[in-house]
Amino acid sequence: MSVFLAGVCTVLAAISLGAGLVAAEAKPPAQTIVILIGPPGSGKGTQAARLSKELSLPHLSTGDLFRENLKKETPLGLQAKEYMNSGKLVPDALVLDMLMKRVKESDSVHGYLLDGFPRTVAQAEALAKFTAPPSQVLVLNLAVSDDQIIKRLTGRLTCEGCGQLYNALLSKEAMKEQCSQCGGQLLQRPDDRLEVIEERLKVFHEQTAPVLAYYHKKGLLVTVDGAMPPDEVYSQLIEAYERFKREKPIR
Ligand code: AMP
Repeated sequence: MSVFLAGVCTVLAAISLGAGLVAAEAKPPAQTIVILIGPPGSGKGTQAARLSKELSLPHLSTGDLFRENLKKETPLGLQAKEYMNSGKLVPDALVLDMLMKRVKESDSVHGYLLDGFPRTVAQAEALAKFTAPPSQVLVLNLAVSDDQIIKRLTGRLTCEGCGQLYNALLSKEAMKEQCSQCGGQLLQRPDDRLEVIEERLKVFHEQTAPVLAYYHKKGLLVTVDGAMPPDEVYSQLIEAYERFKREKPIR
């Protein structure tokens, strides 16, 4: 009898251990998702590059992904081109399809840093569906006035070789028309022309400002003054991130 009971216990233990293993395998990994939001030219790209290194999270910029597709003349790039050059948003379905594929890559298993996404409430809702708990989301908003943005973007030049940014109004280097890092040519982005910047700002206020309200309601939003010098902005972003990690540790 006791041998029989011991056998039953062993089988039950094996079943529960097996179930535990299955449950452990099925549990999605805890991810940290940091979202940088702000109007065009608020410094998202510059800050995201620094934060990505410091936090060891891959920097996923939907604008950069579209520009890469455009350069390679992929069907997606060609579909996105007109929207981008006129300062309009690329339709949600195209953006989501592109991003879903990107976040499945192995470097994004433990999280990622989003730059330029989400830009509509529909995109934010779609993101919420594929970032269920135990993932944690922190949204960092770079606030900069429209006047400042226009000043920054009308002078912005980008190296066609390495993507380094310059401001013709602020930097003497940009006057040389060549990148001091790789010697590449400095060009103005087609969407940094004044009339396109005005359209991009209008799109930001109409379609992206509601995304800020969406995250504010969820208690996930931290706003930083993006008009401060870049180093100061960076230290405030890091401070916000560290506070978030202390207060909401991944369980
Ligand atoms: P960015 O470099 O982030 O300013 O993006 C450049 C352009 O790419 C935008 O003006 C849009 O046309 C397009 N784009 C980038 N991200 C998104 C997004 N999340 N939703 C829709 N369009 C986007």
